[in-house]
Amino acid sequence: MPFSVAIIGAGPSGFYAAEALLRSSLDFRIDLIEGLPTPFGLIRFGVAPDHQSTKRVVRAYERTAKDEAVHYYGNVEVGRDVALSELRRIYDAVIIAIGAPLDRELKIPGGDKPGVYGSAAFVGWYNGHPAHRDLAPDLETESVAIIGNGNVALDIARVLVKTPGEMATTDLPDYAGEAVHAAPIKDVYLIGRRGPLEAKFTNVELREMAQLADCLPVVDPGQLPEEPAAEASERDRRLQAKNLDTLRSFAALSGAGKRKRLHFKFFSRPVEVLGESRVEGLRLERTRLEAGNVVGTGETFDLPCGAIVAAIGTRSRPLNGLPFDANRGVVTNRRGRVAKGLYVVGWARRGPTGVIGTNKPDADEIAAHIEADLTEAGPSRTSGSGRLALEDLLDERGVAWISYEDWKAIEAAEEAAAEPGMPRKKLIRVAEMLAVLNEPRAAQRDEAD
Ligand code: NAP
Repeated sequence: MPFSVAIIGAGPSGFYAAEALLRSSLDFRIDLIEGLPTPFGLIRFGVAPDHQSTKRVVRAYERTAKDEAVHYYGNVEVGRDVALSELRRIYDAVIIAIGAPLDRELKIPGGDKPGVYGSAAFVGWYNGHPAHRDLAPDLETESVAIIGNGNVALDIARVLVKTPGEMATTDLPDYAGEAVHAAPIKDVYLIGRRGPLEAKFTNVELREMAQLADCLPVVDPGQLPEEPAAEASERDRRLQAKNLDTLRSFAALSGAGKRKRLHFKFFSRPVEVLGESRVEGLRLERTRLEAGNVVGTGETFDLPCGAIVAAIGTRSRPLNGLPFDANRGVVTNRRGRVAKGLYVVGWARRGPTGVIGTNKPDADEIAAHIEADLTEAGPSRTSGSGRLALEDLLDERGVAWISYEDWKAIEAAEEAAAEPGMPRKKLIRVAEMLAVLNEPRAAQRDEAD
């Protein structure tokens, strides 16, 4: 008898977990349960719209989804449509793969003023996430500050400064393109509380800043050290040296004819958001590093800006019945084990670090735990029938769950609506996605009448 496993969340970590289970020596029936109709999580809603080549990784997920042992249940929200406790009862094992979708708060005075946006919400907005469709960020400003020196901060900066021409072959939704391209933005600031050596930018992403059609990257050469950090590992020194070279190379670029500037501001930590009823500026304190720690110098300066995006990391979300480490923003776990028959993978386990592929070894480890635990426990409790019980529950509750074929119909509608050169025109509202599925059914009904 096969074992039945439910995976909550159909983003990269959920798909790698399913794939790892398929490679196992045990026989599994695997159900991927996703709150939205659309699969692929951060590949669709996190990876920047101008990084379409990164999104091609979904081809591997597609192979997993099409394996006959795998079923997809989209538009099923655990906690609303079905309880975690119910899934634990009807499946031999449950894997939490819900990522880290919530913004970390900017805990400084004024950090909650209108005009301050978290990166998860902001990126979700320009990537057409239904939950962030109505964010409507106010970009009526010449100057935007992005707090954080990670790749998400770079993504946001690029989307804000690229021209309509540079975004023409992307899937940036119309509403976001119209808002960004009508905005009078001239200066974007990337704020790092540490220095260039500690920035978390990967070099490929940093180098892209030299290629922008209408924007010049600007670095204060006085903030660039001569050498990588002496105490760093050989590998880190190599990475630091590359980023230093790239940052230095920006000085040789010409800004002639370019209307926008992307300013790298290192050793500056935000201390207060300024403004009466909304953001008018950001007060920063100059910092230095002591034994790797950020230390304030007491010297502050004000940066006038009309919008702030805090790209300072995200956290997972607590689900009813899940132990949660609120400090770290992850599901409490010991090497991915949460409780008997309950596991966690990806950013919900580790926090928001690493690249897409980092989820693979993580998934392999969880699959090995599950294999060992189920082998020890004996034959399947559920006779592999978790999905029948799930479908009964969903049908009883009138949940309009969708299959992988249904998703493919939504995807086909998005591709058909795309203008030449665009990969897709995303459907944004859940109701619009579901309407695609109702159209053929309605047409069939009309024909029968
Ligand atoms: P990240 O790489 O952890 O960067 C977060 C940044 O925020 C750091 O510079 C951090 O500074 C800063 N920060 C945190 N709290 C702060 C505070 N209170 N005040 C000021 N600054 C603060 O996170 P991320 O950019 O959100 O990216 C998440 C993961 O996704 C990363 O692994 C990233 O590489 C990956 N990603 C990859 C790509 C790509 O490959 N193209 C694209 C997007 C995301 P400290 O270092 O001082 O803590």
